[in-house]
Order: sequence, then C-alpha cells, then structure tokens
Amino acid sequence: MRIIIMGPPGVGKGTEASMLEAQFNIPHVSTGDIFRALFRTDDPIGIEAREYIDKGLLVPDELTNRIVETRFRTEDVHHGFIFDGYPRNVAQAEAFTKFLNERNWKVDTVINVDTKDETIIERLSGRRVCPKCGATYHIVSNKPRIENICDNDQTELIQRKDDKPETIKNRLEIYHRETKPVIEYYRKAGLLVNVDGSGDIENTHRQVLKIIGDLKW
Ligand code: ADP
Ligand code: AMP
Ligand code: ZN
Repeated sequence: MRIIIMGPPGVGKGTEASMLEAQFNIPHVSTGDIFRALFRTDDPIGIEAREYIDKGLLVPDELTNRIVETRFRTEDVHHGFIFDGYPRNVAQAEAFTKFLNERNWKVDTVINVDTKDETIIERLSGRRVCPKCGATYHIVSNKPRIENICDNDQTELIQRKDDKPETIKNRLEIYHRETKPVIEYYRKAGLLVNVDGSGDIENTHRQVLKIIGDLKW
C-alpha cells in the first residue's frame, strides 16, 4: 500500500499516519520528522533545513527531494509507505511522480484531510511533542496520561518552535499558496480522496480506514 496523506499543517496528518503505521505495519515517512531528526544529530543538512523550518518556510526542493531519495535507500519503503508532509508543492509532486515512475511504483491513493484555519490554529498552538521519541500530544484533545510527560518514555514534552503564533501564520499562508495546488495535481491524476478533518482523531481515522478498505491492494 502506497499512500500520501496531505492537508494543512496541524490537521492531524502525523497522528493519522502513525496510527496506520501501527495498524498495518507500513512505514510512516514524514519529511518534517526526518529534518528534525537530522538537526538533533547536528547533521549539516539538518542545520541548513532548520533555518527555514523555524521561520515556517518550506525547505528548498533540492534539499527536500534529496532527503526523500535518501530515505528510499532503506528497503522497508520499497514495499509500501505512508508519506506525510511530502510533496508540499507542485514541483515536489512532479519530482516524486518521476522518481516512482522510474521504479515502476504507483501511489494507490492521496488522502487529503482538511478543516478550517481556526481549527488548525487551535491544534497547532496546543500541540506538544516528545523530544525523545517524537510522539505528538495535544493539551486538550490528545492529552498524555500525566500532564506534560510522554506516555512512552516519561520525557518532559516541549512545544515546537514553529508552533508559535507568528510562525503558524506563515505556515498557513504557505500552505494556501504552495501546497493547495498539489490537491489539484492529484485530483487530475485520479488519486485524490477527501477526508473531513474537523472531527476528533477517531472520526478522521474511521474515514481513512474506509478509504483503505475500498482500495484493491
Ligand atoms: P500534522 O501532522 O498534520 O501537522 P499532527 O498530527 O501533529 O498534525 O496534529 C496536530 C495537533 O492536533 C496535535 O497536537 C494532535 O494531537 C492534534 N490532533 C490531531 N488530530 C486531531 C483531531 N482530529 N482532533 C483534535 N486534535 C487533533
Ligand atoms: P511538518 O513536521 O510536516 O509540519 O514540517 C515541519 C517543517 O519542515 C515545515 O514547516 C517545513 O519547513 C519543513 N518541511 C517538511 N516537509 C517539507 C517539504 N516537503 N518541503 C519543504 N519543507 C518541508
Ligand atoms: Zn516520548
């Protein structure tokens, strides 16, 4: 199964992709997570990417496409994947299609989760993440068992720098300008399915499971 989950920042792509990964044992690939892992280890690509990430800007395509290609050097993704956060503009979508075509691989479906900006702002501003294992929580809708402590490893949760109000505004603008045209790109390719992301986590998950159940794979 080869799936792309797209949608505005904070709609719940990562939350959903992690649930699918656990349920179907298919690797979840988040370019945002890869960049954050690289800058934690002082990798030069991570340091370069951080300049853009902290401002809420897109990392240049050349660098982003390169980390995706590098991810494909590990075999697990040859048999299936759940991409989240990539592609994020039409140039990346074209590069990804070319990359997959060259290997005779096809995306089965592109799941576009959406909701209104007001909800996005609430989700992003209440998001807390574990700096150790990357688990994502929300101060209201997805609380850890003990306040501000990761359920998996008892590490204290942090707020992402790019989840601060000024940066959220930039990210939403960029989403509307650069990422939204990718919806049309995949609609034309006959791959797009829409999911209403305004309900709770379970509601989104139920809709996604229905889509996956309808696929022939
Ligand atoms: P994305 O990967 O799209 O940026 P996340 O999966 O990190 O988004 O979710 C953003 C925030 O919203 C997180 O704090 C998460 O716990 C919370 N969240 C995710 N899906 C929902 C939902 N359907 N309802 C309420 N909160 C949600
Ligand atoms: P995310 O974790 O998906 O919210 O991504 C966090 C940040 O990483 C984004 O705001 C961008 O700065 C960067 N990023 C992640 N994926 C991409 C991508 N496909 N293209 C460009 N920048 C990206
Ligand atoms: Zn953790």
